[in-house]
Amino acid sequence: MTYKRFFEDAVARLKDERRYRVFADLERSVGRFPRAAWHGPEGVRDVVIWCSNDYLGMGHHPDVIEAMAGCARRMGTGAGGTRNISGTSHPVVELERELADLHGKEAALVFTSGYVSNQTGISTLARLIPDCLILSDALNHNSMIEGVRQSGCAKQVFRHNDLEHLEQLLKAAGAERNKLIVFESVYSMDGDTSPIAAICDLADRYRAMTYIDEVHAVGMYGPRGGGIAERDGVMHRLDIVEGTLGKAFGVMGGYIAGDAVVIDAVRSHAAGFIFTTALPPAIASAAAVSIRHLKASDRERDAQQRQAARTKRVLALAGLPVMASETHIVPVLVGDAEKCKAASDRLLRQHGIYIQPINYPTVPRGTERLRITPGPAHTDAMIDDLAASLIETWLALDLPLKPWADAAE
Ligand SMILES: *Cc1c(COP(=O)(O)O)cnc(C)c1O
Repeated sequence: MTYKRFFEDAVARLKDERRYRVFADLERSVGRFPRAAWHGPEGVRDVVIWCSNDYLGMGHHPDVIEAMAGCARRMGTGAGGTRNISGTSHPVVELERELADLHGKEAALVFTSGYVSNQTGISTLARLIPDCLILSDALNHNSMIEGVRQSGCAKQVFRHNDLEHLEQLLKAAGAERNKLIVFESVYSMDGDTSPIAAICDLADRYRAMTYIDEVHAVGMYGPRGGGIAERDGVMHRLDIVEGTLGKAFGVMGGYIAGDAVVIDAVRSHAAGFIFTTALPPAIASAAAVSIRHLKASDRERDAQQRQAARTKRVLALAGLPVMASETHIVPVLVGDAEKCKAASDRLLRQHGIYIQPINYPTVPRGTERLRITPGPAHTDAMIDDLAASLIETWLALDLPLKPWADAAE
């Protein structure tokens, strides 16, 4: 097959650029997370996972598991069709009520993933607004960029979290022009947050609609897990809140929440919603139980924040280049694609620690990093072991440590 060569070239190019991805073959088992079995080249080994987005371990919560298994036994596995054709099951309807309530909105609409909710949500909203100009944060997730692109609308990218730049663009567009501001609350590679209230102030002043991705914050922040906007008391000021059911909620799926008429319009116009099989009832049921649990319980959030803070402190004291982060995410700078991959490999093979390397294009070249996500199930001893393993790896790969750590030795 002569076409095969194109694909061989494509793979070779990735390998040349150190961008070829290798997945770790892992087997999590309930009750042992963050420990897992790694199916590696030398057989099966016990490892500790340090980069899961099941941030709170809800994917292993007994109530959530029982909701999924029990519902599958009662209602079967698949949804049986698109929402229009036999796929609107009662658990999906209940899930949408739960989500609307979580964000203090009139309605919510569930999609098969957070990716799809952004891609199809943003593109559909923007296309329904006449002559819409989209203002998009420079560090927005790929799913949002694809949503903006697919809308076919004019777009301008504002410098990351730069209110002055955003205001300039809003002002230049003029009061008459319809505008949609799309941004995130937690940027998950750096762990910084956006100035939501100030962005809403600008949106009010210049008559723009707002769309926020709270994917890395739902379940995690706010008294009921409504996200950073709930924590900051500004949820009611946002027009559309988007989130995932696949990260802190530990299941799968995505959604948007907002005014009933807006959600209704998206429901009837979004191709990525209309022409695809609905979420299975068991998934919806498990997600609803997880959301309900985290609305009432701070235990997981508090333990997670504690372990994240402790991890930052212990790694920084050891002299590791922990990047500044305001949230639960702990990025450690490597700054070189090859060394980042080598560090990840060494941690897995020598130390039984799994942290996937984060390289370009997920982050800019020169800022390659290990992105660590401590959870409530990581023990203090695991954190200390992580620090020791990272130091060994840093020394073995000749990566820079903070000078005062050398002096302390
Ligand atoms: C992971 C992610 C998504 C996609 O959510 P999925 O449910 O995993 O498809 C959207 N936005 C951001 C910022 C993400 O990190």
